[in-house]
Amino acid sequence: MSKRVVLIGHPVAHSLSGPMLQAAFDERGIDARHELLDVTVPQLPGAIEALRGTDFLGAQVTIPHKERVTPLVDRMTEEAHATGAVNTITKEGRRLVGHNTDVPGFRAGLDHLVGRQKMPRQAVILGAGGGARAVVFGLITEGFQRVIVFNRHLHRAEGMVKHFGRSASHMELRARPWHESIIESELAKTRVLINATSIGLHADESPIPAEIIPPGLLVMDLIYNPAQTRFLREAKAAGTEATENGLVMLLHQGTAQFELWTGQPPPIDLMRERLEAALAAREASADDAVADAAATQRVASE
Ligand code: NDP
Repeated sequence: MSKRVVLIGHPVAHSLSGPMLQAAFDERGIDARHELLDVTVPQLPGAIEALRGTDFLGAQVTIPHKERVTPLVDRMTEEAHATGAVNTITKEGRRLVGHNTDVPGFRAGLDHLVGRQKMPRQAVILGAGGGARAVVFGLITEGFQRVIVFNRHLHRAEGMVKHFGRSASHMELRARPWHESIIESELAKTRVLINATSIGLHADESPIPAEIIPPGLLVMDLIYNPAQTRFLREAKAAGTEATENGLVMLLHQGTAQFELWTGQPPPIDLMRERLEAALAAREASADDAVADAAATQRVASE
């Protein structure tokens, strides 16, 4: 019987990882089907309980359930526990295990950014949401010594810093208020700058003004649009040493999931190819929607 791997989220209409994972299952001869499961908050406990059935191999968990799902699994890995978020569920018989593969995904992106040089020790992070939690835990476990977090709502960044309290006791992890002058002075003291806000995802906007980005930094944006975000374009223009978008992170959170469910090495090149194709298709349909809206407006005004 074919096993089911479901993506649990709300909404789930645009899954980028579905085509990537299905291609990987097919390539490795694994009899599994990837499905989208639109699950609202009240439906979540029932949907997670159903995963205990023998027809399920596992699940992906996405917005808005990554944090809510944590009390519903039987055990969590260190990464899921530390970040307080689960994006992957595997099974041990009927027992459910929660993982967070955004963490190894981020580490792969960071390694790609840093290249062959020595791993830096200081970073500035913009944002304090779910993605930022994976980033902070990744930096703590990579041995960073000074990590400063800025967020529009300071209390959220403070909550995150508090959450990591014990695992960051050997280093300086601080939340600071979102003022341009404070960000500028921290950027002068850092090596790595990471955008973990969603600014730039839907509009050509950057979280910070171009003028305050100093030259020589290593800069990452978690946003994985194939077109470069304004943040990365402006960072490059400021003379950064290297830049990285969120594509490597997205790919590697998926390859880690594949390995967890199947125990087999993931076909990375094929998965990258399918992911890029899914992203290109999403961009094209977004462009079509913009063109349709413009045409409708023209007709209406005629
Ligand atoms: P969340 O909704 O959990 O967090 C959003 C973050 O963006 C918060 O810090 C929020 O600040 C900030 N933000 C949003 N709008 C504004 C604004 N107008 N002004 C200032 N700050 C703003 O989202 P995630 O953490 O899950 O995702 C953040 C980004 O990272 C997204 O673009 C997502 O696509 C990307 N991501 C990429 C991954 C990858 O694999 N490459 C993995 C995970 C995320 P506040 O708290 O003040 O509201």
